[in-house]
Amino acid sequence: MLSHVGPDPMDHGRFPVDPWRLVETGYSPVDTGLTETLFAVANGYLGMRGNPEEGRPAFAHGTFLNGFHETWPIRHAENAFGFAKTGQTIVNVPDAKVLKIYVDDEPLTFGTADLEHYERSLDFRDGILRRSLVWRTPSGKRVRIDSTRMVSMTQRHLAVLTMEITLLSGEAPIVISSQLLNRQDGKDEYHQPAAAQGMDPRKAASFEERVLLPRMSYATDDRMLLGYQAAHSGMTVAVAADHRLSTSDAYETVVRAEDDLAKIVFRVDASTGTTLRLEKVVAYHSSRGVAVRELSDRCDRTLDRAARLGVSHLQDEQREWYAGFWAAADVEIAGRGPEMEALQQAIRFNLFSLAQATARTDGVGVPAKGVTGSGYEGHYFWDTEIYVIPFLTYTSPTVARNTLHFRSVMLPAARDRAAEMAQKGALFPWRTINGEEASAYYAAGTAQMHIDADVAYALTRYVQATGDFGFLIREGIDILVETARMWAELGFWRSTDTGEEFHIHGVTGPDEYTTVVNNNLFTNVMARYNLEQAVAAVRRIAGDHPIEFGQVSSRLSLTDDEVEEWERCAEGMVIPFDESFGIHPQDDLFLEREVWDLPNTPAELRPLLLHYHPLVIYRFQVLKQADVVMALFLQGDRFTAEQKQADFEYYDPITTGDSTLSAVVQSIMAAEVGYHEVALRYFYDALYVDLMNLHDNTVDGMHIASNGGLWSALVFGFGGMRDAGGLSFDPRLPKSWDSLDFRVRWRESRLLVRLTQDTITFTVEEGVEPVPLTVRGIAYDVTREAPVSVALSHQGPRIDGTLGDMPILHGVRPDGSTTTSTVPEPSTGPLTGEIPIVPVPAAPETT
Ligand code: BGC
Repeated sequence: MLSHVGPDPMDHGRFPVDPWRLVETGYSPVDTGLTETLFAVANGYLGMRGNPEEGRPAFAHGTFLNGFHETWPIRHAENAFGFAKTGQTIVNVPDAKVLKIYVDDEPLTFGTADLEHYERSLDFRDGILRRSLVWRTPSGKRVRIDSTRMVSMTQRHLAVLTMEITLLSGEAPIVISSQLLNRQDGKDEYHQPAAAQGMDPRKAASFEERVLLPRMSYATDDRMLLGYQAAHSGMTVAVAADHRLSTSDAYETVVRAEDDLAKIVFRVDASTGTTLRLEKVVAYHSSRGVAVRELSDRCDRTLDRAARLGVSHLQDEQREWYAGFWAAADVEIAGRGPEMEALQQAIRFNLFSLAQATARTDGVGVPAKGVTGSGYEGHYFWDTEIYVIPFLTYTSPTVARNTLHFRSVMLPAARDRAAEMAQKGALFPWRTINGEEASAYYAAGTAQMHIDADVAYALTRYVQATGDFGFLIREGIDILVETARMWAELGFWRSTDTGEEFHIHGVTGPDEYTTVVNNNLFTNVMARYNLEQAVAAVRRIAGDHPIEFGQVSSRLSLTDDEVEEWERCAEGMVIPFDESFGIHPQDDLFLEREVWDLPNTPAELRPLLLHYHPLVIYRFQVLKQADVVMALFLQGDRFTAEQKQADFEYYDPITTGDSTLSAVVQSIMAAEVGYHEVALRYFYDALYVDLMNLHDNTVDGMHIASNGGLWSALVFGFGGMRDAGGLSFDPRLPKSWDSLDFRVRWRESRLLVRLTQDTITFTVEEGVEPVPLTVRGIAYDVTREAPVSVALSHQGPRIDGTLGDMPILHGVRPDGSTTTSTVPEPSTGPLTGEIPIVPVPAAPETT
């Protein structure tokens, strides 16, 4: 369902338009949690929320290391065989952002401080968060404070903080207390709980017992460290910080190190007009079990190297890194509306978020929130393969490959899980950090076995786009074979009047409002692709690389019979179609259900998952997110244009979009079938999902799948690109846009695609390999020397208006009944979905 967000909904009085930065010119205590997420700095491994240096006010303090987690036994009140056993939750690692300032012994505290000037900005060109303010202290002095915060893209373990303080009037003692503070274990320095909690299942669980067991701490005049081991997972973490103070004024240093707090306090007798500058360089290292002592050595090495390079060198490197990122990944739009610049800014913000979520994951997954929050416990889902890897494949293939490699590393655990689930091959967990299934609610978790096909899909598209057959032979083939085995075993044959059919029963598709069904269309279509691709890959390796094939074959105990069986399973795969409704039912019984009357569901009962028991929702035709429509996109070459339009028209009005994974896909398919206004409006919904907090939970972290899907909406949706058997284009440029430019890497070349209302132009910007492609069925070869320009007579079919939210009730079932539509009586109990913002009460200060 469409929201009512327009093309330019932001308050530009507070967040002015700037195509390369997110800028905030006024602080507001009302949305602290939101802005902490929006102003987070991260590199995919290390993430720091946008909490103020002074530590408060804060909604949720957060510093996260991708994959650093605590485990806990999942206690099912009613257990059953094979239920997930090990909960995994990302841990808030010790906070190194803290730089408290005192002037005349008065603390600077946001919210209460008298600020003459305030500006905070996050620059997409160098990933540096800058804050600049002029504070009028209680004793009437004016102090200028400029600070920066950066998580390095080039040095994975490093963060760099700087602070400059200038006394604009008067003389005063200035104190900067630089700290490392363990906030995970329930309390911070003000003995506040770590973060606000609620019943929202998308939030991370909180721990009652101590998580980080202290193993080491020290502080000297310029370096300090804290090291811990997680109580149950056994993972270790160390954080160390170096300091360099430059000032012409006299100062002294006081240090302290305890189990949960290390600090170096600089006491400066500041004179008017002089600027003191503090550089704090921080290193984080974590491990599955290496002793903290060793991590401490690693921190030393990282800090020593950073000291040799110097802060400005590190910042320059960062700017260079981002220049490369934007050269490969920028998407530019131009048009007539006054909103174009705002749209451009929001597009870049989403792409920037993807860089921050993925760039230095270096072989671990991409959590649903990146490293900007603890939502979804820091778990990896199908979000990575279906929403993020396409972007990476076409802009940063090395990162795509690392991420896929991570699934290979998980393969042994996935084999064990398949065996536990009475299947052959491998079954990837629905949600996980360490490779084990962490989804306690199997109906919307483990039952989403399409995860296997999603991994296979991302892998084959990566290999096709990059030509990285080495990766396929060395490890990709193992994934394809083991997932194909899983499908062949999971499904079964049924004889019907029309022949033998291969069915898959008891699974859940992407739509989590309908669970454990037979022949979920998305699952069957994707499983078919998985099986076909496994067959094709095995045959290709056997034909082109006989020596390697011998190794693959013996490593996987591969037989010809099973490959032939996969081929038969794919051919016999049942793809349900309902003649009466003229659509693909989401599953065998989907159309048997009555329809949830969304137009008459009050807004305060949304999202449904926070207000209705799952069983209430499951009784209805109502979707959390695109399901059939997702299949139409990912396997578009297997459906006709008429089928796509009919399916889209049926499912769009009954799709709530309660998951942020929905809007982007709805946008892509709306564009393809011709609902151009709908496409644009879903695009805005995705574009502003975090900037406008449209799902009311950006406090828990960025929506990385939606950010990735936004790129897909631009490139696959409006750009009309598809990659089924090679690159093809059938563009859908919005009416109000004059042009859309994007870049895609194909093999060793980078292609610039420039789309206008009447032309599409392809230029090879980098590399010498020609890029073969088609535009509306006609083939072209783009070479470095010869760009290709193709005249366009139209931008696809155009159907004006929106579909609204009235469900289509016209189908007649085989028993002669027609569909009805109702809203179930809402719960009379308290609506516990709202998460209160816990105000931080005043507390005594400590330096
Ligand atoms: C969606 C899933 C998604 C998960 C994590 C859920 O709300 O339904 O499809 O994988 O969020 O983003």
